[in-house]
Amino acid sequence: MDGSPLSVVGFHLDFLIESQVSVSIFDKCLNFTRLDEVRGAGLFPYFHPIGASHGGTEVTIEGRRMVMIGSNNYLGLTHHPRVQEAATKAIRDFGSGCSGSRFLNGTLEMHHQLEAELADFFGMEAALVFSTGFQTNLGVLSVLAGKDDLIFCDRENHASIYDGSRLSFAQVKKYRHNDMEDLERLLSEAPPEKNKLIVTDGVFSMLGDVCPLPRMRELADQYGAEILVDDAHGVGVAGRQGRGTVDHFGVDVELITGTFSKSLASLGGFVVGPRKVIEFVQIHARAMVFSAAITPANTASALAALRVMREEPEHHVKLLENLAFMREGFRGLGYEVEDHPSAIIPLPVGEDSNTFIMWKKLFDNGVFVNAVIPPAVPPGGSLLRTSYMASHTRDQLERSLDVFARIGKELPVS
Ligand code: PMP
Repeated sequence: MDGSPLSVVGFHLDFLIESQVSVSIFDKCLNFTRLDEVRGAGLFPYFHPIGASHGGTEVTIEGRRMVMIGSNNYLGLTHHPRVQEAATKAIRDFGSGCSGSRFLNGTLEMHHQLEAELADFFGMEAALVFSTGFQTNLGVLSVLAGKDDLIFCDRENHASIYDGSRLSFAQVKKYRHNDMEDLERLLSEAPPEKNKLIVTDGVFSMLGDVCPLPRMRELADQYGAEILVDDAHGVGVAGRQGRGTVDHFGVDVELITGTFSKSLASLGGFVVGPRKVIEFVQIHARAMVFSAAITPANTASALAALRVMREEPEHHVKLLENLAFMREGFRGLGYEVEDHPSAIIPLPVGEDSNTFIMWKKLFDNGVFVNAVIPPAVPPGGSLLRTSYMASHTRDQLERSLDVFARIGKELPVS
């Protein structure tokens, strides 16, 4: 024992195990062996630390340089000189943190500037910036819905939507993924006098498919519901110049939430919508009021990335070209790939163990992808999630396809 708090806790727990008394809240942790098994087999695909980034499109992990096709940096802007310079300048001018909540001492003029430009970009009245996209959904949903309200939620929606809905105490009605008949069934069964909010991902984060917004709008109007689209993965990719899924379909929705951790090359989240709603959320959302403001560097880099997105449309064009190239490439290798307006190309595998084996073979051959297993996907629906950046070179994409061609021969995918 080295006297650290952890070793003291460890000693305490060992003592309990030996005496066969199960009274510790930590029992489930001590009995959790799956991690050791998978790690022991060298197949654990998560939490591998990146030692170096080579422009974002290649990384060094555990001493090995590899092509990164598992990032959400869709426009490649984390390494854009304007974005990097903006973050550096913000630290020089304002320091490394805001040291408080937006509510009290933490609001910068730069936050307001970013909010004004986001509202303008999405054609909405107002915007509000949070410290993460996750916190945005927690804050917005928990404030807007209450115990007498109904939230209609796609089964594949992001975890932050489920957690935000839970915090709201509203009744959550889950409909089958992208199934508008199922949504209509639930809406038609709901008491007409109840407030109703339909919440959906714009682009779904694991499957890369898109919600059927035009039909959802019709249903919302018919049954008196509002719509919130979480467009974390749609912004920068779908719609005109990457305005997102709502713009892609050309329909109106009441609220859009999103993140800066993907195309906007930073860390943070936002909601855009009617001014009165945004003001109400700003004052009441616990995730806003009781949490420190998004840092100067993150604010400045998101703002710079938004401006680059608007002023340099070539990144969006290049991303779409790269996606078209990869879709064709995978089809050539026998994969079933759909044409969604998204930067995510999922490759279905099926079983968790095969997914881990495929992931490891790709990793060992210099290609980083994401292994996705339940609960992130339905049971039996494990997949390799690949995603692309505007800044990937043709050579990097070809090299990745070559590795898939070789690996695919060794282990067929479903
Ligand atoms: N919504 C969706 C659909 C997401 O995929 C994510 C992140 N994976 C979030 C919200 C949370 O965003 P952030 O990373 O900014 O917390």
